[in-house]
Amino acid sequence: MKMPTKFRTHCPFCKTHTEHKVERVKKGKASSMTRITRQKHRHQGIGNAGKFSKVPGGDKPTKKVALRYRCTVCKKAYQKKCFRAGKFELTG
Ligand SMILES: [Zn+2]
Repeated sequence: MKMPTKFRTHCPFCKTHTEHKVERVKKGKASSMTRITRQKHRHQGIGNAGKFSKVPGGDKPTKKVALRYRCTVCKKAYQKKCFRAGKFELTG
């Protein structure tokens, strides 16, 4: 999904609708390990333990996205409940 970096929403500190900036909390990509190497690392066990995963296909198809909203009026930031999305982009 795509989301604008700025939008108007309710600020719990100002108690009114103000303009907010969106910041990502988690990193989008792991620095050095790719998805495949991470899977291999996780599944390395003793004997036969590494060969079979409980989830077919390995990783879950969607990732949790954590966002921080910063009010441009009072400059305070707060986090809302994160949600799951396969792809997440900030636009604008
Ligand atoms: Zn505010």
